[in-house]
Amino acid sequence: MAGGEPRPPAQTPGWSILDGGESRRDGNTLMRHSITGCMDATVTVTAVEDVGPDTYAIRFDTPDGFAAEPGQFVKLGTEIDGETVARFYTLSSPTTDGGFEVTVGIDPAEGGDFSAFLADVEPGVEMSLSGPFGDQHYDGEPRVVVLAGGPGVGPAVAIAERALADGGEAAVVYRDDEPAHGERLAALRERGATIFLIGGGTDLTAPVSDVLTGADGEGIFVYGFDEFVTDATDAIAAAIGDADAAKVENFG
Ligand SMILES: Cc1cc2nc3c(=O)[nH]c(=O)nc-3n(C[C@H](O)[C@H](O)[C@H](O)COP(=O)(O)OP(=O)(O)OC[C@H]3O[C@@H](n4cnc5c(N)ncnc54)[C@H](O)[C@@H]3O)c2cc1C
Repeated sequence: MAGGEPRPPAQTPGWSILDGGESRRDGNTLMRHSITGCMDATVTVTAVEDVGPDTYAIRFDTPDGFAAEPGQFVKLGTEIDGETVARFYTLSSPTTDGGFEVTVGIDPAEGGDFSAFLADVEPGVEMSLSGPFGDQHYDGEPRVVVLAGGPGVGPAVAIAERALADGGEAAVVYRDDEPAHGERLAALRERGATIFLIGGGTDLTAPVSDVLTGADGEGIFVYGFDEFVTDATDAIAAAIGDADAAKVENFG
């Protein structure tokens, strides 16, 4: 863990303290953690929208005292066959005012019980919530460039919408064979955002170097599963020399 940053408390769900003062969460990714505002609550599903092939936007009430930035994530949990099961999901709403949303991609080949459970939820279903977690989130950058793979499109649209609402600029490079959130991406393009939609497996180098300007205040964000994150950080390094400046959340 970087010097001076807080350690997550040992009782925080999903975390344990490792030798050397690192923190680890269930997704097997080492990362820093902001304790500020983290809470446990029960949340109720208020809406479920089919936003693309095997992709669902699930909306919840916002519990009292809960606030998060787009790009942060929460841990949602339920009981499946008598066992408590919980997984992390990244906010896909630009704010948590009056409700918040996550976007879940179901991989029929790789996905397991929890994403199958989320695919079937309906308004009124309750779940446990812990969070928010993560410091790889929108922080008022005047220009955002978001690289998204699969369900990483959730935080991508949320961050782009928030940046435009704050008077900033936004660009999204989204790689998926079966894209989701088409309406929100089209609305972003209408409002002046640059949107590159590319098929799965397509090399990211050209679109990423097109959208990165290297200007002061340009925030670079990466959200997706492991293979996408590797490809995206390689493309950032090829475009601007190194990928350390990017905020990266690896879904596993
Ligand atoms: C910080 C963080 C944020 C996350 N945010 C999101 C999010 O916003 N939306 C979201 O859908 N998921 C997100 N995930 C992944 C999520 O937590 C689960 O791992 C996922 O929903 C699968 O859970 P499962 O129980 O169905 O399957 P598991 O049995 O836990 O999954 C098995 C493995 O299948 C693979 N897999 C599962 N689903 C997919 C997929 N759609 N595409 C590619 N590979 C997949 C992964 O390698 C995963 O580890 C996030 C994970 C982390 C660590």
